[in-house]
Amino acid sequence: MNIEECKYEVVTDTIVKPQNDEKKYKYIRLKKNKLEIVFVQDFHEGKSAAAANVNAGCLQDPLHRQGLAHFLEHMLFLGTEKYPQADFDQFLNENSGTSNAYTDYMQTNYYFECSDNAFREALDRFGHFFINPLFNQDLVDREMNAVNSEHSKNLQDDEFRKLQLLDSSALKHSPLNKFGTGNLETLKHDSIRDDLIAFYKENYSANLIKMCIYTHENIEDIESYVVDLFEQIPNFDKPAPTYLEKPFPNQIFQSFWKYVPAKNHHNIKVMWTSEFFTKESYQKHPLKYWSHVFGFEGENSLLSALKHLGLAEGLASGYEDIMNNMSIFYVDVELTQQGLSRYTEVLNIVFTYLQIMKKIGVQDYIYEEDRITGIQEFNSAEQEESMDFAHSLTANMQIYKPKDIIKAQCYFEEYDPQLINQVINSFKHENMRIFFSSQTLESECTQVDPYYFCKYQQSPLPQNIIDLFINPTYNHTTCGGKQLGLPPKNDFIAKDLSLITQDYENLPKYPSVIKQDEKSIAYFKQDHKFKVPKTLAKVIIYSNDGNVKENVENYLLYQIWMKLFQEENREFMYQAEMAKIYTKMYIKGTAEIEFEGFSETLPSYLNAFFERLSKFDPTPYKQDFLVEYEKLSKKLQNFFCKNPYKQGKYYNQFAIRHKGLFGPQELLEAIKGVTYEKICQFHNVLFKNIYLTWFITGNLTSNSALNVINSVEKILYTNRTPLPKNKIDVPQAIDITNEDGLDYVWEINLDDSETNSYISSIFQFENSSIKNDVLMKLIDNFLEEPFYTSLRTEQQLGYIVWSMTCAERTVIYVYFQIQSDVKPPQYLSQQIEAFVDEMLEEVSEMKDEDLDIIKESVENDLREQPHSISQEALRFWQEIQGRRLVFDSREKQIEELQKITLEQFKEAFTSIFRDNRANIQIHLVSKVHREENEKLKPSEDMDEESNQLFIESIEQFKINQPKHKFKYY
Ligand SMILES: [Zn+2]
Repeated sequence: MNIEECKYEVVTDTIVKPQNDEKKYKYIRLKKNKLEIVFVQDFHEGKSAAAANVNAGCLQDPLHRQGLAHFLEHMLFLGTEKYPQADFDQFLNENSGTSNAYTDYMQTNYYFECSDNAFREALDRFGHFFINPLFNQDLVDREMNAVNSEHSKNLQDDEFRKLQLLDSSALKHSPLNKFGTGNLETLKHDSIRDDLIAFYKENYSANLIKMCIYTHENIEDIESYVVDLFEQIPNFDKPAPTYLEKPFPNQIFQSFWKYVPAKNHHNIKVMWTSEFFTKESYQKHPLKYWSHVFGFEGENSLLSALKHLGLAEGLASGYEDIMNNMSIFYVDVELTQQGLSRYTEVLNIVFTYLQIMKKIGVQDYIYEEDRITGIQEFNSAEQEESMDFAHSLTANMQIYKPKDIIKAQCYFEEYDPQLINQVINSFKHENMRIFFSSQTLESECTQVDPYYFCKYQQSPLPQNIIDLFINPTYNHTTCGGKQLGLPPKNDFIAKDLSLITQDYENLPKYPSVIKQDEKSIAYFKQDHKFKVPKTLAKVIIYSNDGNVKENVENYLLYQIWMKLFQEENREFMYQAEMAKIYTKMYIKGTAEIEFEGFSETLPSYLNAFFERLSKFDPTPYKQDFLVEYEKLSKKLQNFFCKNPYKQGKYYNQFAIRHKGLFGPQELLEAIKGVTYEKICQFHNVLFKNIYLTWFITGNLTSNSALNVINSVEKILYTNRTPLPKNKIDVPQAIDITNEDGLDYVWEINLDDSETNSYISSIFQFENSSIKNDVLMKLIDNFLEEPFYTSLRTEQQLGYIVWSMTCAERTVIYVYFQIQSDVKPPQYLSQQIEAFVDEMLEEVSEMKDEDLDIIKESVENDLREQPHSISQEALRFWQEIQGRRLVFDSREKQIEELQKITLEQFKEAFTSIFRDNRANIQIHLVSKVHREENEKLKPSEDMDEESNQLFIESIEQFKINQPKHKFKYY
């Protein structure tokens, strides 16, 4: 192409990227409409993706139409002049794709992914969102209900509520002082369609949009297609919105807040406004430095001092950018019961720490450590999913210099000690806000937020707190506390990040067993493609653990035991985390521990870790026990304040699993019996006999992996003996078949404050096998989009409307889930049945061509390669955990997929939903829907026939029902 003809200019030739990033980038600006596009060419297989980010969000909402930007985001998916049917998601679904969008304060981001062969058409459909959307009046009227349901879902969410209180406390005329989600009250107006169009014309100008095209084609091959398409987006040369006036001048910000949270927890958050926001100073990151220091959890830390006195459960420090013209820095302390009543003492310690840090100032070695670990992390970063990468790039394109759009968040490059000191010295009482949350404050709170109806009280900052801020008095020697100071030097930081081989081609693709004896079995796989200097190790410790799968008290004791271990080793583990060595521990009936870190440093960390685990004894930690006990009790209580669909997720698993999970009420009851003495007794039996299952992968040889395993086992098997194999428990699922063909219904009343109801309707299929897994994926793909379109988009039953299939304890199930703010579970159940009938009808008329479309989409999904070594490790780990061990299951499924006939598909479908129907429904009923729900039940007096059988006691139900045999293939 001649220079004269070229339709774009190149914005930058150099985008800074990680050393191991093999992707190709091209950043251009279209001459016709000033749209900026980044092309990303990925040479590995995977999905194509695109994102479009508009530099306008809810700050641009007109005062009389709050939530408009967010509503517009929903509407763009619902039809354009060229593609009037609102079927973008259907198109994606047929092509292994998915889409999403979000509306932020200053950005609205749209994105999707799909298979390579459908990418150009998907782009055309997507591009027309920004060229000529329809805003069909019917869909406008309908879709605002989805926005309203979305807001209903958030009503009991403390994060949304607190954010709203912050925004509403900004200067009255500040654009920040808004309600961004919107609801029917703010959106249901006769002129709403005109308002949407006006907003669109005002803000969706090509010069304000940044795009990312993530492709597997050569950029040179696809670029003219992309350019021709996207230069049709109109450009009105709108200036990017700027917000010059700061929303929080000191006299507005300085205040003391009390707040009644939905969840039972106690918390105090100290905040300061800062002028040194990151957009201008991202290469220096002054606030990041201080959030590292305040949020540090190792030796000398603020958290250690607070914990030592029994005042805190946890602590977080960070900062938020507000309107690109200021930031809010915070220290957020999760309080214990003691901390709640002694909160001024907590503040005293925070203020003392601040005073010490002001005096000491920035330290070169801490900055240097942050810089080194930042570079290490950046250069060994694992590849993200294409769609996530695309949308985060476009978000960065709106903020950072073109060359820095990948690196932006990882910068620690320009050391500016003066600026860092200036930042901490700007934290004064004049620009300080304290936000104090606890349900115990209810009687002191008389103000009510008009959008979320939460209670709070705003008052001036009390003089005694100002005095304390000026003269904090924490002295560790007089109160028997811990010394406050700087993080110590970090010895865990890796120096050698080299790769052990360059010859990746000939390494095995799947794990193999490298050790098997009475102590353990170990699977290993050397990295054969990701080329990162990392090692991942995962281990399950089976033990004679007091039968935690069936004994609810021991189950709780095990949880607390683990928390105590973690707490006693917090400083050690946190220090390692700062050097990018991560540890995760779970108790899922057995103990599971996962490690990830640099190959050089991980082995010695593993040794140190298991030394500590092996020697750990909870006996000296009575005070910590009390804290952990309180924490777990609150967590169990707070289960009932969770969003219904989140509670539902737990109930679903609980209903189906034979053992290993306990009912929320049962747990709450059982925790009353847990004592410190019982923890000590429990400890005495735990890990006496053990058996280990290992998986190690990454940048190491099988010999190095064996060395790691042998040295850890030497530590663990001192004073311990192997657990006999027959003591290792086999997971089972309940068979939910009812002999009379009835559906089981388990009905639970939700907390009175909850306005949403929830249903899940679970259909049982057969045991997992290569063939059944493939059938399950075909059925999943067939149902997903029509279920969403019918029950959410058309019927507007709620914001959360999902269908999915998955295997639980090797049995396959189809799930339909709806969370609704408008209808009770009985109604939702009827609609699901109607949908199922419709689908049965549709399946009976299905042709080979129809199945072929589904097959192709499923095949693309199956062919998708893992993006990162941790994702690959997870796939293999699931095979090991579930004891299926078919490491090439995807390849086998692809083969099987070709063989599936239309008859087999029809047979499986009718078997699940009609011929061998086995169904259980979980109904979570909101108080506002109870009456209507009762009316919809078939009544016995009227002699109405019901196909529902109500479960009186779920525990009894689980005992009575037969169990599935655990089997694979
Ligand atoms: Zn939304």
